[in-house]
Amino acid sequence: MPQTVTRADFDQVMVPNYAPADYIPVRGAGSRLWDQAGREYVDLAGGIAVNALGHAHPGLVAALTEQAGKVWHVSNSLTNEPALRLARKLVDATFAERVFFCNSGAEANEAAFKLARKFAIDTGGADKYEIIATTNSFHGRTFFTVTVGGQPKYSDGFGPRPTGIRHIPYNDLDALKAAISDKTAAVIIEPVQGEGGVLPADAAYLRGVRALCDQHKALLVLDEVQTGMGRSGSLFAYMEYGVTPDILTSAKSLGGGFPIGAMLTTADIASHFGVGTHGSTYGGNPLACAVAEAVLDVVNTPETLAGIRAKHARIVARLQALASETGVFATVRGMGLLIGAELAEPFKGKAKDFMTAAAREGVMVLQAGPDVVRFAPSLIIPDADIDEGLNRFERAVRAVIGQ
Ligand SMILES: *Cc1c(COP(=O)(O)O)cnc(C)c1O
Repeated sequence: MPQTVTRADFDQVMVPNYAPADYIPVRGAGSRLWDQAGREYVDLAGGIAVNALGHAHPGLVAALTEQAGKVWHVSNSLTNEPALRLARKLVDATFAERVFFCNSGAEANEAAFKLARKFAIDTGGADKYEIIATTNSFHGRTFFTVTVGGQPKYSDGFGPRPTGIRHIPYNDLDALKAAISDKTAAVIIEPVQGEGGVLPADAAYLRGVRALCDQHKALLVLDEVQTGMGRSGSLFAYMEYGVTPDILTSAKSLGGGFPIGAMLTTADIASHFGVGTHGSTYGGNPLACAVAEAVLDVVNTPETLAGIRAKHARIVARLQALASETGVFATVRGMGLLIGAELAEPFKGKAKDFMTAAAREGVMVLQAGPDVVRFAPSLIIPDADIDEGLNRFERAVRAVIGQ
């Protein structure tokens, strides 16, 4: 008999770095989840933009179980077929010519920052190591990536930080112009700041960043861990903007719920990561790559991408209607199926209350900071689930604001 566990066990056996909700999901199908008590939830959160094809997608289950019967792991002194197939498909579908696999978004960014510095120092001299990032950005929780991320609350309290990192305001080209120099190795940008509040970059800004990087021989790194793999309505958000990076990082939706990250770049830049310069034991694992290949096959089709844009319009229209009826949201923004509803002044700071109330009504949503309710559902969520989820969300909103 398996041991019975409940939410109360969390406080007894887990490190207290999270504060999970009071229910535990045990089963999912598509965009519905069920908890231990059998209560059903519509999932508009997607495990924070991870479950790109919902839960227990038959194609992903098949890819995983088929590979599970073959080979789970080989060391990096060998390569494997799923990794090579996935890399080939990513190269064919993007600007990239070379791919490095790892297990998470933070690891993809860690690789990107190390490669950018290596490339810059190799080609521009020992002083060319500076990384410029934006305030309120999020790039992961390793000490290097959390320091590059522009939120001191995440990097304070751990002693001396990695150096050579500067922060400037997002969407402010003049600030970058003033900060960038020939010592800059790389500029890192999220095409939409996800954790920072679902804030899209202005197209002119991203084009300007690209031009300044070219002028100073700095690499443009786009962190597409949250925006990538269809989330934006294109396979990657850089395609929406028409601004091509030198290095792109992906994770979250890439594995559809199975851990994998990737760093994509050109052959020239990749050549600076020679044998022995970087690595990961599990990176490029056959199970993860087999699942990610199946995710890519479903996501990178005209039907799926068109569906994402249509579902964006459906969700935004409904949230805007709710905003004009109740005054709860100041703005509704985002791209594709990454949508943020910014709370109006009287409700600022209460995003978590809306999230908790939503779960009580049977719908899972997210927050992005204290002032923004975030939606990042499955990229193939049926319209009926969107409507039912937003019906429940509307009840939750009205319960919180008393209207
Ligand atoms: C989630 C996220 C990360 C970190 O990914 P992990 O898999 O949690 O390490 C990095 N960058 C962005 C933009 C993210 O949204």
